Amino acid sequence: MSTGPRRARSSENGNAPMNLVVMKFGGTSVEDAAAIARTAAIVKGRVAQGKCPVIVVSAMAKVTDQLLRAAGAAAQGDRTGALAISSRLRGRHRDVAAELIQSPNECASTVDLIDQRFDSLDEVLRGLAVLLELTPRIADLIVSYGERLSSRIVTAAFRERGLDAVHVDARQIVVTDSEFQKAAPLDAVTEKRAQEKLLPLLHEHKIPVMGGFIAANEAGVTTTLGRGGSDFTGALIGGALSAETIEIWTDVDGIMTADPRVCPDALRVRVISFEEAAELAYFGAKVLHPATILPAVKKNIPVAVLNSRNAKCEGTRIISLAPHCKSPFKSIAVKKKLSIIDIVASRMLMTHGYMSQMFAIFDKHKCPVDMVSTSEVSVSLSVDSNASLPEIAADLSKLADVKYEGRKALVCMVGEDIRGQSGIAAQVFSAIRHINVRMISQGASEINMSFMIEEDDADEAIRSLHAAFFQNPDPAVFDVEARKPQTVNSGQ
Ligand code: ADP
Ligand code: ASP
Ligand code: MG
Repeated sequence: MSTGPRRARSSENGNAPMNLVVMKFGGTSVEDAAAIARTAAIVKGRVAQGKCPVIVVSAMAKVTDQLLRAAGAAAQGDRTGALAISSRLRGRHRDVAAELIQSPNECASTVDLIDQRFDSLDEVLRGLAVLLELTPRIADLIVSYGERLSSRIVTAAFRERGLDAVHVDARQIVVTDSEFQKAAPLDAVTEKRAQEKLLPLLHEHKIPVMGGFIAANEAGVTTTLGRGGSDFTGALIGGALSAETIEIWTDVDGIMTADPRVCPDALRVRVISFEEAAELAYFGAKVLHPATILPAVKKNIPVAVLNSRNAKCEGTRIISLAPHCKSPFKSIAVKKKLSIIDIVASRMLMTHGYMSQMFAIFDKHKCPVDMVSTSEVSVSLSVDSNASLPEIAADLSKLADVKYEGRKALVCMVGEDIRGQSGIAAQVFSAIRHINVRMISQGASEINMSFMIEEDDADEAIRSLHAAFFQNPDPAVFDVEARKPQTVNSGQ
């Protein structure tokens, strides 16, 4: 099979090709036959530029959610409901494969494989409907079908379009601990396996295609890296193979000044630093999984965020040192579904060791804390609402009076050197003076100012802040062209 003019030059460290690009395609980039055909064309374009791509794909859009719904139904004893979801998913995967793959043999073998996978999924669902207990381990097994199936279909579709694609089971490469549903990769062994399994394929000019998000522990049991984790797989593989670039292909033009679904005026950020992108991802900008940046930072690999529906757009470049920006902020992120825990203890502050006792409780419940603010007698903390709050509160109440409140949102404004700009806090809080602010954090990081508000106020706060801070954005950093009104040709 011809794959075009590729030069697999080897880099000095290891024998990875220097022109290696990891291309991660998200759910919307593989959601149906048309999207997968667009994805194939994008990969062909890279091959024509002499790149050696490694492909990481998510499950088709919404499939992970539906698999979780099927698992939930089965665990409630609703066997029929669970199998009905699985049957609809089977139909969708079969239809997409049949539309993409014309060659009768390839089509038949792909559809056959899809059927085998769904037969085994149905067996798991039937078992679950008897046992009625959905453990994190079983949930990971069930959701893994999404990426296992999409990566097979994409491989077959690429081959059909003249790309020498080879399917690789991600679970044989990405090795994690056994923290099901949010497993942490074991870097050294993952790097070794990635090099052992992928480099020989690349040297044969083949294009490896693997599912993101899914992995296995050292015993070979399926794990996952947490929701949105395919970005992380892309970055891990990019880091392991010292890729030239890690490309994250999604459904927006890049990292925007705010979530475009909330703020339709959002502008594309042309270039942003690793540090700023990591902060945005951590504080809720869904466009990147929070762990994505770390493997890139370790090896100083640039990350590009690109739109598979608008492949000509240059996207966002994430690099170690971004150029100076005249605007105070690069982007605004929001993290919803948070709770505030208020801890009040009159004897507290003078007793040393108090804070560590308190944090030991959060540690015991594996509950990360986003924001902390303290006064003479009280501490307020913000945590994910999914955390085991009643249990945490019960433990904390042995130390102090505790109350907690849900439906909060953390707004995070990211930009270079915020600490050094006088009057910036006044401008921020003046822009949202109509909104009640519960907690504020400024100064913990030079590049981030964050505050906690009611979840119901979050969208309005983002739009007000965006209107206040992105009136005259720096054209060197933001795509201001997109904002210019289109010239209407009157036809005269
Ligand atoms: P994928 O399936 O490709 O991984 P995601 O849905 O995980 O895509 O992420 C892309 C979505 O992230 C966009 O559709 C957008 O609504 C959302 N998003 C949130 N914040 C931002 C931001 N600052 N810039 C761009 N997109 C954002
Ligand atoms: N399919 C997984 C999810 O929906 C992983 C991903 O898409 O990145 O969370
Ligand atoms: Mg994503």
